[in-house]
Amino acid sequence: MTYDNNNIFAKILRGEVPCKEVYRDDHVLAFNDINPLAPTHILVIPTGKYVSIDDFGKNASPAEIKAFYAAIDKIVEDKGLKTKGFRCIANTGPNGGQEVPHFHMHILGGCPIGPMVSTAL
Ligand code: 5GP
Repeated sequence: MTYDNNNIFAKILRGEVPCKEVYRDDHVLAFNDINPLAPTHILVIPTGKYVSIDDFGKNASPAEIKAFYAAIDKIVEDKGLKTKGFRCIANTGPNGGQEVPHFHMHILGGCPIGPMVSTAL
């Protein structure tokens, strides 16, 4: 899938759309989700142009990948989520329910997050 420079997270990265920033470094930006589904709901995105988790894993540099997971570690530590736990979700593609085509990890915490999926087989 080709990267869409007009997706909402690209606009946030360019400063064209505001966000409530939680963390930033050269490779990573994290901000509060505009429609929180838990007391803590943070989106972590690479500053590079990656559509999905598989695009990121395949094409990002080791420095970008390390920075991404280090940022998640710092955020969950800073937000006090480590003791009781949290959930990370990377929705991917249509079946995964991905709405924004810029790779992002949801961090959800602050309460029990509930069942892993809503589908019933
Ligand atoms: P997805 O469904 O792609 O995994 O998640 C996209 C997330 O982006 C949703 O949880 C949605 O609430 C969030 N979102 C969409 N537009 C904006 C925005 O303009 N600002 C922020 N902070 N979050 C957004």
